[in-house]
Amino acid sequence: MKTLKTTLLSTFVLLLCGTTACAQHNKSEVKTEDKKMTYKVQKTEEDWKKELTPEQYSVLRQKGTERPFTGKYENFYEKGTYHCAACGAKLFESGTKFDSHCGWPSFDKAIPGTIEYHKDISFGMIRTEVLCVNCGGHLGHVFDDGPTATGDRYCINSVSLKFEPDSDVKK
Ligand SMILES: [Zn+2]
Repeated sequence: MKTLKTTLLSTFVLLLCGTTACAQHNKSEVKTEDKKMTYKVQKTEEDWKKELTPEQYSVLRQKGTERPFTGKYENFYEKGTYHCAACGAKLFESGTKFDSHCGWPSFDKAIPGTIEYHKDISFGMIRTEVLCVNCGGHLGHVFDDGPTATGDRYCINSVSLKFEPDSDVKK
């Protein structure tokens, strides 16, 4: 009788362990999938460090800001497209760039669907942070005090951008 009781108990414990393990396994699988869904481009911080310059890494991955009036695209008005310096995704067209005198490249509109918006409450301000929707790289901020019809002023770090001239521009 004692043996039967022990066997039954062991079976119960085994079953219980099995169910719990199974539930945990499913949970972790869902979690991983959620994370993967966030950005198409997924890289480790080590990989980003290898691929980006120290300036690009500090802005794109650590949400730093380049010093104003120092970026290479601040006073730059050639025709073409601005891409994410980290993953290459298209972000802004040169036609939407304007001189805001704020010290950083400014655009009044982003290419639809390329930008992710986050509320940023750092440094005692409420701002809207803009990130590349493809890789999650930090680009800058958007303000609603723009002088053009859109009313938006995307204030973007030059180091987060890579300019590609229009191929049909005659030289
Ligand atoms: Zn990107």
